[in-house]
Amino acid sequence: MLIKQYLLGPMANFIYIIVDESSSKVAIVDPAWEVPFLIDELEKNQWELEKVLLTHGHNDHVNGIEELLAYKEVPVYLSQDEAPFYTPKVELERLSDGDTVSVGSSSLTVLSTPGHSSGCVCYCSDTNIIAGDMIFIDGCGRVDLPGSDPEAMYDSLRKVYQLDDQLMVWPGHDYGSVRSERLGNLKKTNPYLSAVDKSDFFEKRGV
Ligand SMILES: [Zn+2]
Repeated sequence: MLIKQYLLGPMANFIYIIVDESSSKVAIVDPAWEVPFLIDELEKNQWELEKVLLTHGHNDHVNGIEELLAYKEVPVYLSQDEAPFYTPKVELERLSDGDTVSVGSSSLTVLSTPGHSSGCVCYCSDTNIIAGDMIFIDGCGRVDLPGSDPEAMYDSLRKVYQLDDQLMVWPGHDYGSVRSERLGNLKKTNPYLSAVDKSDFFEKRGV
């Protein structure tokens, strides 16, 4: 499985194309901002778009969906907890914690990580975690938006902290000095992931 990362749009969003190299089937994670560019990538590399995966429903992560589906009608996956807050008129496949989604012959596991929004999820392979706005290189998602929950964010950070140090973390925005990082390093350098307890996290986050 290959992870292609693209920095697109005015808000430093990372959009991902997940490639199953054996079949050339791909999933696009959080299609937004520059759909013609994404379509060009598909065609240039002869990748077959199989599905769209959403980490959550905020506009800066989903504003390209209708345009992408006009290019090719594929299923769109989103957490069942996020679906009630999702506004684009698109039919959804609803995900729960622990579900697996396939990309060609590869598969990803859904990790429920609410806090930034009610239904934020990460998509995990054996070696990668596509984290959306749950965690950034130097930060974590805002917890002061409608649907945010600082307590849930703290719990999600603890859940991710338990995962393998070798996982490569792929965030939803380019907020940091590098574009991706091993989880083991983030456990030492990310101020929210390294919070020693809930009150430390709340203090750092200004909750
Ligand atoms: Zn967001």
